[in-house]
Amino acid sequence: MSSQTRKFGQAVVIGGSIAGLLSARVLSEHFEKVIVLERDPFPSGPETRKGAPQGHHVHALLEAGLKVLEELFPGMPREMEGEGVERIDMARDAAWLQSGSWKTRYEGNVESILVSRPFLEWKVRGRVAALPNVELRQGISVEQLRLDAARTRVSGVKVKGPEGEQVLDSALVVDASGRGSRTPQWLEALGFGTVPQEQVRIDMGYTSRFYERPAGFDAWKILVINGRAPETRRSGFISNVEGNRWIVSLNGYFGDHAPVDDQGFLEFARRLPTPHLYEYIRQARPLTPPSLHKISASRWLHYERMARMPEGLVLLGDSVCSLNPVFGQGMTVAALGAKLLGDTLSRARGTPSGPPLELTRRFQKDLGKIVGLCWFLTTTQDLAYPEAEGHRKPGLKFLQWSFNNMIDLTSVDAHACQRFYDVLHMRKGLEGLLDPGFARALLTYNLKSLLVPRARRANLDTLPPHPSARGGKDAGRMDSAA
Ligand SMILES: Cc1cc2nc3c(=O)[nH]c(=O)nc-3n(C[C@H](O)[C@H](O)[C@H](O)COP(=O)(O)OP(=O)(O)OC[C@H]3O[C@@H](n4cnc5c(N)ncnc54)[C@H](O)[C@@H]3O)c2cc1C
Repeated sequence: MSSQTRKFGQAVVIGGSIAGLLSARVLSEHFEKVIVLERDPFPSGPETRKGAPQGHHVHALLEAGLKVLEELFPGMPREMEGEGVERIDMARDAAWLQSGSWKTRYEGNVESILVSRPFLEWKVRGRVAALPNVELRQGISVEQLRLDAARTRVSGVKVKGPEGEQVLDSALVVDASGRGSRTPQWLEALGFGTVPQEQVRIDMGYTSRFYERPAGFDAWKILVINGRAPETRRSGFISNVEGNRWIVSLNGYFGDHAPVDDQGFLEFARRLPTPHLYEYIRQARPLTPPSLHKISASRWLHYERMARMPEGLVLLGDSVCSLNPVFGQGMTVAALGAKLLGDTLSRARGTPSGPPLELTRRFQKDLGKIVGLCWFLTTTQDLAYPEAEGHRKPGLKFLQWSFNNMIDLTSVDAHACQRFYDVLHMRKGLEGLLDPGFARALLTYNLKSLLVPRARRANLDTLPPHPSARGGKDAGRMDSAA
């Protein structure tokens, strides 16, 4: 906020999870006071809680998300490294069977950190709680939005907590209440109409548990086993996390969920598209019982398409779009949403009494562009399953065929792989795939796929070693300028 403009009054954030906390951090630069309202009690340490049950499961952070964290909380990722969180190069340190072929490994400088979700949230919460103009209120549930007399602007929220019901005035309300957000019902009841939504039904189940990480293990730092749709429905992850632990998550589509008993969990792992994950965990020591979480569908609420929205309200994180987490995009989209909110407020010329008109529409429209990339990547893959209920656009089959070829190409071509990581890690938008060199390589590979059997043009079988363990072209350094 420039020195000529005064801060706005009070902002309220619904939800004290990743999106809510990051929003509070950016709002603290623009508002005199920011109040975060969270239904759960906040745990005193890095523990899972009822309102964020996904904390039991693997949470990868894409590079763009890490960069936002570093920008908003200087020094925090480095501080976490001192506490057992590893900073990695995804291109080098991940062993990833994607859609049935192993990604080539090389020095690619695709940065990420390996951290459990509760630990990350706890660190972020600590930083936000220390901001002088932010107040975190726990055990408070937001029950309704309040409108001004003209019924065009949200003027606050009605809340329920230990002291009963209360109304909190607010110049801006940020809904970061996740997948269970009640804004669609509230807006409908207030006469703003129905929020258009898209969804792709997946009936996915994640079953996860922590293991002790075997001492001295360094073949990879994160292992992902993901078969080709629609032939296989199962995936598995092992990720190093703080505390010298592995988090192991097994997932399956359409009700094919890993059981929560020891034997059933192992048996599910044994029947993944390759036995690697099973071989790694069968001798390892479990630290927690398996825990199951179900995700019925990926869902995108298109607030940017609403004919009428009240001013003074914005939504971000899972309250807008909650995705099949298979590409690990959710926290990064939340982080990019919070950054966008800060940028939008910085650019906007408001009055001291409140954020400017059209802020809501502008923000939701720009957020839609960020969400769109993730939605495209995830649903293109999910809609390859005939059971996946969702809208199939013309040309989808060709797109899926080319997408699968692109994935196979990344198993043998480090330059192509780096272009893919650029887009996946949100360094670039989809235009990153239009890079002339990449487009040419993919076109040639598409033709090759018509003539050469898959097993002879992609690495389907061999888990690639760490680049330092082999010579050759792919072992060389490569950054996004390559
Ligand atoms: C199994 C699984 C694995 C995942 N893996 C990854 C991954 O690898 N990488 C990744 O980036 N993302 C992953 N995600 C997605 C990620 O967890 C979400 O995108 C992210 O948590 C969204 O954050 P959020 O703050 O928007 O919502 P949430 O984390 O859902 O938080 C919403 C908060 O709002 C509170 N709340 C709700 N209603 C109210 C109310 N009325 N009043 C007050 N408080 C309220 C809730 O208690 C909660 O704390 C995964 C998700 C799942 C389910």
